[in-house]
Amino acid sequence: MDCQTGRGTDLSTSPVPIHRLEFGLEWPPWTAAAYLVATDDPVLVDAGVPGDEGEAELRDGLAEYGYDPADVGHVVLTHPHSDHLGQVPTLREAGARVVAARPTRERLRRDPDDLAAAVERVCRGVGLPDGEIPDQIDRALDSLRRNRRLLDPDGIDHAFAFGESFEAGGLAFDPVHTPGHQADHASFAVGVGGEDLLFSGDALVATFRAAALNVGFDDGAYGAVDDFYAGYDRLDGREFDRVFPGHGPVFEDAAGALADSRADLDSLLAGTLDAVRAVGPASPYDLTRERVGEYEHLARLFDTVGALGALERRGRVERVDSGAEGDDGPRRYRVRPAGEE
Ligand SMILES: [Zn+2]
Repeated sequence: MDCQTGRGTDLSTSPVPIHRLEFGLEWPPWTAAAYLVATDDPVLVDAGVPGDEGEAELRDGLAEYGYDPADVGHVVLTHPHSDHLGQVPTLREAGARVVAARPTRERLRRDPDDLAAAVERVCRGVGLPDGEIPDQIDRALDSLRRNRRLLDPDGIDHAFAFGESFEAGGLAFDPVHTPGHQADHASFAVGVGGEDLLFSGDALVATFRAAALNVGFDDGAYGAVDDFYAGYDRLDGREFDRVFPGHGPVFEDAAGALADSRADLDSLLAGTLDAVRAVGPASPYDLTRERVGEYEHLARLFDTVGALGALERRGRVERVDSGAEGDDGPRRYRVRPAGEE
């Protein structure tokens, strides 16, 4: 069956417009997108940036298509980063039902003292200079507090489990677990007006791969890259007519974007292994400098940390620090000698 025949059959289904709302960011990629799926009971996928400017962008963006916040029946969230949660309070106040992943709700309830202790431990292991660690603890606590303010865990009306579809606006949303950029990240496969669509958040973007921030410096930091691969595996082999990402243009070639993203991770692993070969045994902090030069954005460090975890699991690198409880010095990685199992 050719494409046109397929579309022809679908004409019986009433078309559902999907409107893109854009929000300005102060950092690359400079804009974040949310999408209004304009059924009779409209669904907004993601909620833009916080603050007055974000609220104006939300109101103006909706008004352009003849809507206001009170018309939004449901807000469905891909992941708890501020550029995707920003206007949840406005929408909730206007009466929207809030839908987020169950593990997101759990993470929002993370005990701040446990989080602070984990961040300190992980930062030491990474080899971050002692003087920078308190800042990282503050940042993690600030972001937990901000996320809770934007998305009150007790105000989530439906907390979905991955692999369990849910209904919003008369549509069936199939949430696919696509972590790596954020540990509880959901992409939504949805049939709309005869098309198979994917709302991919930051998990699948046409123009770049989002950084392996995953859990930040919380426990599990070394799982970020393998988490990314696992998310791609879940999307592999599924057919989508169009993909609606959190940043960058809407695109059709999901398989191509998946292949590009995978290739980017593969080259991250190769570059990290080269760095270990060149200067190992060395800490993740020093290996990042070897891999990318002086770096300003911690995203580069998170990528290295995730890559080291993946390489260790593949038996390509090993740690030479004791790894014992109570040894709170930096981890040091070297290439695993050939032939050793
Ligand atoms: Zn984003």
